[in-house]
Amino acid sequence: MDDKTSFWEPCWACRVMAGEPVGCVVIETEQVLVLINPFALTPGHALVVPRSHVENLYELPDELAAPILSTAARVARAVKREFAADGVTLRQNNEASSDQHLFHFHLHVIPRFSGDTEQFGASPQLAGRAEQEAWASRLRLAIEAVRS
Ligand SMILES: [Zn+2]
Repeated sequence: MDDKTSFWEPCWACRVMAGEPVGCVVIETEQVLVLINPFALTPGHALVVPRSHVENLYELPDELAAPILSTAARVARAVKREFAADGVTLRQNNEASSDQHLFHFHLHVIPRFSGDTEQFGASPQLAGRAEQEAWASRLRLAIEAVRS
């Protein structure tokens, strides 16, 4: 088990939802939460996760697909505006072979900036707690602003 794997186990998303101070919640709804990715590829990199523990896409119930995607769309609009992103990439990995490290379904919403290809493909470092909190609060306000 490498350092990155031990960071995510036992299930990091479930620990955040249980109130452990191991991650930053941006917003939560009845079915999904938006969390800051502690290993952000770019500032504002968020994860949309279902409240229920679902390991991957193969197990995702149909009724969660719509709230996950519509939430990701709201986050994409918000992050584009608040972080002045030039683009937004959605990414979703299933199984270790596809680079899945957190085995709780998550849809990445990644702000993109012109010329960030190298950074986008790199192995990101763990962001500091204060930095994650700052991104979360900016994103939270921006999501409220784009709600309508
Ligand atoms: Zn979980």
